[in-house]
This record gives sequence, structure tokens and C-alpha cells, in this order.
Amino acid sequence: MLRQYELVERVLAYAPQADEAMLNRAYVYTVQKHGTQKRASGDPYFSHPVEVAGLMTELKLDQETIVTALLHDTVEDTLATVEEIERLFGPDVARLVDGVTKLSKIETMTESERAAENLRKFLLAMSEDLRVLLVKLADRLHNMRTLHFIKSEDKRRRIARETMEIYAPLAQRVGMYEYMREMQLLAFEQLEPEAYATITGRLSAIRSEGGGEVGDIALSIKQALAEAGMRVEVAGREKHPYSIWKKMAERHVSFEQITDIMAFRVLVDDVGDCYRALGILHQTWQMIPGRFKDYISTPKINGYKSLHTSLIYNNARRVEVQLKTREMHHRNEYGLAAHWAYKQGGEPDAQVGWLRDLVEILDASHDPDELLENTKMAIYQDRIFAFTPKGSLFQLPKGATPIDFAFAVHTNLGAQAVGAKINGRHVPLRTPLGNGDVVEIIKSRNSEPQLSWLGFAVTGKARAAIRRAVRQKERAEVALIGRKLYEEITERLPTQVGKKALADAIKRLKMNGEEDLMVAIGTAKLDDRQVMEALVPGSTANLPNPEDWPRQQRAIAVRGLTPGMAFKLAECCHPVPGDRIVGLRRPGKGVEVHSIDCERLADGVDADWIDLSWDKRTDGAVGRLRAELYNRPGTLAEMAGIFAKNHANVVNLEMTQRENPFHTYLVDLEVRDLAHLTRIVSALRASDAVAQADRI
Ligand code: MN
Repeated sequence: MLRQYELVERVLAYAPQADEAMLNRAYVYTVQKHGTQKRASGDPYFSHPVEVAGLMTELKLDQETIVTALLHDTVEDTLATVEEIERLFGPDVARLVDGVTKLSKIETMTESERAAENLRKFLLAMSEDLRVLLVKLADRLHNMRTLHFIKSEDKRRRIARETMEIYAPLAQRVGMYEYMREMQLLAFEQLEPEAYATITGRLSAIRSEGGGEVGDIALSIKQALAEAGMRVEVAGREKHPYSIWKKMAERHVSFEQITDIMAFRVLVDDVGDCYRALGILHQTWQMIPGRFKDYISTPKINGYKSLHTSLIYNNARRVEVQLKTREMHHRNEYGLAAHWAYKQGGEPDAQVGWLRDLVEILDASHDPDELLENTKMAIYQDRIFAFTPKGSLFQLPKGATPIDFAFAVHTNLGAQAVGAKINGRHVPLRTPLGNGDVVEIIKSRNSEPQLSWLGFAVTGKARAAIRRAVRQKERAEVALIGRKLYEEITERLPTQVGKKALADAIKRLKMNGEEDLMVAIGTAKLDDRQVMEALVPGSTANLPNPEDWPRQQRAIAVRGLTPGMAFKLAECCHPVPGDRIVGLRRPGKGVEVHSIDCERLADGVDADWIDLSWDKRTDGAVGRLRAELYNRPGTLAEMAGIFAKNHANVVNLEMTQRENPFHTYLVDLEVRDLAHLTRIVSALRASDAVAQADRI
């Protein structure tokens, strides 16, 4: 294990201005916090974060990243909190540690969820700062290096699978090939022990037969280039057992058929030498057509640069050769991390540089598909990712609320939602979700979607479902009124109306069934006479004038309503100018004006039903709203202030519920019109004293 002074020295070697005291404090902090915790190897637990920090120094990462690596398991596994870390090490480190902690959540996800595309999106979104991802990758690499200490084979295989499916592709994604290869190799050993043993066995057999063939070929390459006056470094290696195995699987070939199991890397001083060396190698040994690739003139999307070719060495062995400059090599192996480290020297805002470099690389992409793939990181800035209590992951637009989440999980869950907990705490349904939140929806069977939810639901799915439910409810209510009127109408007919007569009437009136007919009656699209004639043709011929019919339902359009003696605004629904309204007229009484949504309308079927609209000059009415305030001092005053600022007079105020952590008030308010009332409701919603505000 790295000792404290060794780690600090390593950092100071490439970052002389680093805060030595902070590095020391972080080292001591992790040792203290992890205390006597042990690794499966028997080592003290803190050896792990220290080694992870060591891996980060190999990439020459900045001091915040090193400190984050040291602290990366303290929040998850010890009593340390993000707040404490912020106090001791500053907000940047706290944010990074929090990010690494949240990344660990993917390990609790089910396999199918992980395999899903949204896993990667989640990771990238969580890694707004790529240093979070780098620490997580180093964390995983060190865990893989010590995997063999874990006794349970199941556990080893699970971790290996995770590594193969999640972390190695991620390492590849950010161009950390060195990490990717080592992770794959270690995971391969666990997942396919027989194949691993066979391939490594074959490789060592070749080595002993050929007598260090890799070294011979490397030397020949070096000599050929030296004769042309070039100073180069040549390194040869056998392909990793895992990449050989993958090739065998992909190409359906046996080990014997895989001939290019050796690869050589030629490092030169500059780009010109790359091409010169290539020419010399092609003159010396036969090249294999179709295998040459120029990633210098056309780098890979992640910035990878190199020349690739395959040669037939001494007419016997196929070998791969990569030619590149030393700087290209370092960048290729450590991807963005190296790219960043290179630029870091002398650049004052290195952290900003990191992100800018990423953007540069993304900008450099040519293929539109790849561009899309790479700009997803930016696109994810508008997304949040939240979990169910069981760990299922849902992706939602930024600003989404528990209602959106509930509908995303299941339409029924959304329909029955009555409350929500975020990370175990009760919150109003309108609370915006944050990345990584665990959201629990509280439901009730008898509940149904509320119109007011449209004020804060943001996803199309939720909004459509809410509208559908509200419309259905409205239609059902209208149909109920229609049915009562219908029953009244049939009483006036000379003969009993049977099923057949009703079916015929529906056909005659060109309705789509019984409910449709009831809705038409309820909304006065059909008058009594039309319905009676359809049920019993000729039945209205001898009836008196429609005006004289008893308790008759009529649809009278009164345009330009002014509330007054004849028109009384109903107390139940408090319609205000701008609302859609209807009038109910009972014999000897004035007209009661209700909002079209008023539930009391169902009681009004014994009255005349009058289609009304507001006079444009109508000014003022009392609106009623319900506000849930947070139970803390000053919230009521805050609400009163909002009313005053909006010039609305409070005529009645009543506390209807006193329930931690909210107090619910019923407020009657004099407002000019619907727009005025809506503006006040919006102002309430915007206030942080108010948890929820709705008109009722
Ligand atoms: Mn760890």
C-alpha cells in the first residue's frame, strides 16, 4: 500500500502547487473513518481508497480528484456525511464524492435494467464531471485486481459480469483502453475459467516453442527502422487472452486459425516519422491488404490516433503493428484523462479545460450518428434519472415531479397517486425530482387523477393520462345528468319504452350508443321533443307548447351574463368571469350560476338547464382556493403578502387541516376574473412558503 508521504510526493511531482495539507488531511480522514474495517484480502479497508488514489496519480489527475479517490467510500461505508466532507474539504470535493457515491447505485440495479441503454445514459448524466467517472473506474479496477480474495464464487462472478457489462464499456467510452483491457482480462478469468486456462496455456506453449518470439520480432522491427536512421521504441505483446477469445467467438474460428496473436507498438518522435516508418516496414515485410488503417489523418471519434497495419513476418507469422508518437500513445491509452493532464500544465482553469476538451472532441466527430451518440452527454443535461424503491430506473425530463414518475412506472400507479416520498421523506406531489432520487408513490384505490395535476405534470404521458381521466369523469357526470333527464322524458310518453325502442331511437338520432345519447341529452344537444319523437314517433304531436311542459329541461343560451338579482353565483363552485358556466333555474327562484365543473350540477336536474356565458364587462367575483403551507413561522404572512401584491381581497380564510408538515387553508378571494385568479395561484405555487395551491 502507498504510504502517506509517497502519495503526496507523487502528486507534488506533477502538480507542485497542490495543497499538500489537504492531501494529508484526506489521507488521515479516510484511515480514521474506515477504522478497523477489513477488505476480503484481510488488509485494512483504507488500503483500497489509497490504492485508488494511487491509480489516479498515474493519470496525473488534479488534487481534487486524488482527495475524492481517498474519500470515495466514506459516505457509503462509514459515518461520514457529504456535509462534513464539504466542511472539511470544500464544495468541489463534496460534489465529486457525492457523485461517486451515487454512481454506486447502479450495482443494486437488476440485470435487465443494467443491460438497458438507459444505464449508460444514467452514468453519463451522473458524470457531468468526468472525474467522478474516472474515480469510479479506478475504484472498479482496484476491486477487480483484488477480486480473487473474495471467497464466494457467485459474488466473484457477479462482480466480474458487472465489470464486463458496465465498467469495461464505460472505460472504452472515455478512451481508457488500458483500464478496459485489464478489466476485461480479469473479468474473463472469472467468467470463462476454462477458456481462460486453455488460451493462456496455448500462449505459453507458443512462447516456449518459439523461444521468445515476440522479443525477436520486436528486435527485427527496431533494426529495420534503425538502418533507416530512425530512433524508435518497439514494444511487442501477445494479444490479451480475452481479445483472442473474443475473436474466436466472433469469427467462429479455432485457436489455430487465429494467426495474428502478436501485436507491436512502434513509438516515434513525430507524425512524419510515423509515415516514414510505415513505408520502411511495408518494404521490408509483406503487408496484408485490407488491414491498413490511418487513424492519424482520420482519428477515431474519441481522439484515438495511430497507424495500424498487419505484416507477414518472415513469410510465417502474421503480426499487427501500430505506429504512433509517444504523446499519441499516452493519450490513446488513458483517453480523456491523459488529454486533460497534458493540457493541464500551465493552464490556470484546468477544470474548465477538461470540459472544453471534451466538447472539442465531440465537435470533431464527422459521422452524424456518432455525433449524436457523443452529444448525448449534453442532451442528458435536460434529463433526470430516478429510482423506484426496488431500484428500477426511470428517465424523465428535468422538472418532472412524482406524478410524472408515477405515470412513467405505470398508468394505474399515476391514476391512484395520493402522495409521494423522495429519499424517504414526504413531499408534495408537485416537488421536482433530482438526479438519483428514490421515489416512492403512495397510492389509494379510490383516488383518481386531479385536474390540478396539469399545473405541474410535465411528461406527455402523464398529461395525456390526466386529461383523459378528467374528460372521462366529466363525460360520466354529464351522462348521469342526461340519464336523469331521459328518465323524466320517458315518463311523459304514452307507452312504456323498452330496450328495443331505445335501440331504435339511438339509431334514429345517429348516436354511438346509450352513453352517447345520455351525454347529448345532458349537454342539451338534443331537446325533449327530439328525444320523445325518436323513442315514440308522433308522440309529441298533441302536446302543448314546449314552454308549458312541466319541469321541462330546456337549453336557453343567455349570452352576456351579469351577476345580480336574476343570476346568483353558486356558493359551491365560486365561478369567476372566464369560467365556463351553466345556469339552473327552479320555478319561482332566480338562476343559480355554476361552473361547468361543479359537482353540485348533478343535484340540479330538477331545474331548467341554461347555457350561459359571461358578459365581457362583468367585473369581479369570489374565487375559492386551497393552499397547503409549510408548517413554519411566517408562511401565512407570506401568502397574505401574495394576495395583497396581486390586489385580491380576502373575504374568508379557514384552516381546514393541520397536519405535519403542512397546514391547509381554504381561501375565498375577490378577483377580477379567471386570469387574475390563475395568476394568484401561480404566484402561490412559486412561493417557497407554499407546498401546493389549487383552485377548488
Ligand atoms: Mn471503493
